[in-house]
Amino acid sequence: MSRSARIALARPIRRLFDYQVPAHLKLQAGQRVQVPFGRQILTGLVVQPDAQAPDQITLKPITAALEDWPALPPETLQLLTWAATYYQHPLGECLFMALPPALRRGRPAQRRQESWWQANPRGQAELSPNARRQRSLLNWLQSHAGAHSSAEIIAAGFTRAQLNGLRDKGLIEETSQDRMAPRKADELKTLPPLSPAQLIALKEIPTPEQGFSAALLYGITGSGKTEIYLHYLKNHLQDKQQALVLVPEINLTPQTVARFRTYLGNRIAVWHSSLNDSERLDTWLRVRQGEPVLVIGTRSAVMLPFTNLATIVVDEEHDSSYKQGEGFRYSGRDLAVYRASLNQCPVVLGSATPSLESLHNARTGKYSLIRLEERAGSAVPPEIRLLDVRSRPLEGGLSTPAIQAIRDCLAAGKQALVFVNRRGYAPVMMCFDCGHMIECPRCDTRLTYHRRDRAMRCHHCDFQAAATDQCPKCKSEAFKPVGQGTERTEDVLGQAFPETPVVRVDRDSTQRKGSIQAIINKVASGEPCILVGTQMLAKGHDFPNVTLVVVVNADGGLFSVDFRAPEQMIQTLLQVSGRAGRGVVPGRVLIQTCHSDHPMMSSMSKGNYLPLADQLLQEREASLFPPFRAMAMVRAEAPSMADSLAFLDAAKTQVTEPAIEVWGPLPAVMARRADRHRAQLVLVCHSRSRLNRALGQLCESLDSQRQSKSLRWQVDVDPVETS
Ligand code: ADP
Ligand code: ZN
Ligand code: ZN
Repeated sequence: MSRSARIALARPIRRLFDYQVPAHLKLQAGQRVQVPFGRQILTGLVVQPDAQAPDQITLKPITAALEDWPALPPETLQLLTWAATYYQHPLGECLFMALPPALRRGRPAQRRQESWWQANPRGQAELSPNARRQRSLLNWLQSHAGAHSSAEIIAAGFTRAQLNGLRDKGLIEETSQDRMAPRKADELKTLPPLSPAQLIALKEIPTPEQGFSAALLYGITGSGKTEIYLHYLKNHLQDKQQALVLVPEINLTPQTVARFRTYLGNRIAVWHSSLNDSERLDTWLRVRQGEPVLVIGTRSAVMLPFTNLATIVVDEEHDSSYKQGEGFRYSGRDLAVYRASLNQCPVVLGSATPSLESLHNARTGKYSLIRLEERAGSAVPPEIRLLDVRSRPLEGGLSTPAIQAIRDCLAAGKQALVFVNRRGYAPVMMCFDCGHMIECPRCDTRLTYHRRDRAMRCHHCDFQAAATDQCPKCKSEAFKPVGQGTERTEDVLGQAFPETPVVRVDRDSTQRKGSIQAIINKVASGEPCILVGTQMLAKGHDFPNVTLVVVVNADGGLFSVDFRAPEQMIQTLLQVSGRAGRGVVPGRVLIQTCHSDHPMMSSMSKGNYLPLADQLLQEREASLFPPFRAMAMVRAEAPSMADSLAFLDAAKTQVTEPAIEVWGPLPAVMARRADRHRAQLVLVCHSRSRLNRALGQLCESLDSQRQSKSLRWQVDVDPVETS
């Protein structure tokens, strides 16, 4: 009898494919193979190396094995197999997500030859005075002990030509990477000592020897969580071990990576979406080959093929960017916890504003709770004041007390940060004669006015039109922007403070590579300036000279239909407030609101997250929302709302598990997006496993039905966005 194997292909179908195994091949689960598929040869991954060959069917043979070792080691394979079932996503697509693009395409698993450089202690040549850049590169290499890869050197702002110039003069030398290995501990900078409170927190973090356990590190903004992670890793990570530090968006926090490099050296590797294919392959192979790397990465780093993982840290664990918003809708944070249990290692979830899910796990004893409630160094928590702006005149969205506070802050030689929750100039253009507002022709939303580009843009599809000075309907000239966007606030502040640089930070101003780094450098220089920006500014930055934070409008989440909106609002406000007063001068926060008497607002102004979060948890419990019940959504979209609703109505009848409550179907809050009509069904159940089983059956049955080609549907387990 011939042998057969079950192979996963990168196809959006919930099934595996059987192939015959040629006699000379010895296969292992997780191995890459080539298989015939129609007229093509595809890359596949072995899921089951010795399957029972179905009778009476002649299988096509596997063409070749690409390596004689499994690309996906056992824990990675197990993690993704579990995730495919949990998130109801086709296994083939999940497994291929864990390969770098080059390996998905069947390319060889070989590292590009990387050059490594170090200063030559015997170098004698004189540099001519006009070789300024070469001199500064030489200084850089001399002051950064050990060897550095070309990639790292170029990332620090130098060029290959400068490297070659110095090499030709014998001032630096190329070394093989093996010789440099991780730098010796004594060549690295020593960490500054921790405060007594930080030390207590550090001692409570479970160590790798203890095996699996999860800890929630609740440390207020500026409490020095990064320093704790650094000490933790330095103390507990052995020379041969690997570690993973997940961060929400690495591009926004290049300083964090730099800090890790300073203290932990060359074993630091980064993993994020702006790496190119060969960088991805290199890092992936370093991990797979068991090098003792410490990976700092965004959510997909949780799928890297670690073989010797000692510990996982998830920083800013509340951040919604850990949840993938399309396709394989996994949560990087939740997979990290599962991965830690598979690898029998600890996982630390850190945040100043923990998610209600994690807090609940801590309150029920599933995670340990470590509390760090004082700021590091001499910094103290900022004073938060609510400014009711209902009856105050606003100048471009800013009240007189806010402008005055900025003036005082600048006069003291400090920096101010102004938070606006919308990019662009204004969220609406409105005619004051006929009331007309410009809407997106393809979505149920208004177009945002972008004054810099004279454009009207939809933030939900790619629609864009030229801005006009007249009402397109009645031709009136009384056609004006309404509401605040970052561009408008930038203009208003530029006029009010003509002497001071105003720096805007939003998705539009940071599109070019390196622009966020330039902004950070500018702010880090400490010169007085005003930062204006969106959520991007709330994320983990450490700007010691910012002493004032102004929130232009805080009320977004108070009356939203999304059950997560209050939680997210508090998290954003406290995170952005936490940028104030991280240095020696105490910080102040002014929050402009129209609802200063709202109980949530007034308790927020005490700056204390846990009591607020506990109260939100009680509300969730009373209404049996997550984390008190498991939730999943089935979303559908079609060219007509009737089709979407009809599809979901039919799906609803197929959910027969009595323990599941089904809500809907209902049109989504933004019912039409990019000309597709969207509706949703919400499923809740006290039992995660029953919900999972029912979803599996539902997907299977929906897969087998014939549907109109224009209808698309998907399942979202533990949805973060529910509106
Ligand atoms: P968090 O991430 O908890 O908000 P950070 O890790 O960014 O805080 O630290 C806040 C600031 O405090 C940083 O500038 C950091 O260098 C400083 N800091 C941290 N620990 C100490 C310490 N033990 N002594 C002095 N300064 C510290
Ligand atoms: Zn008009
Ligand atoms: Zn649109």
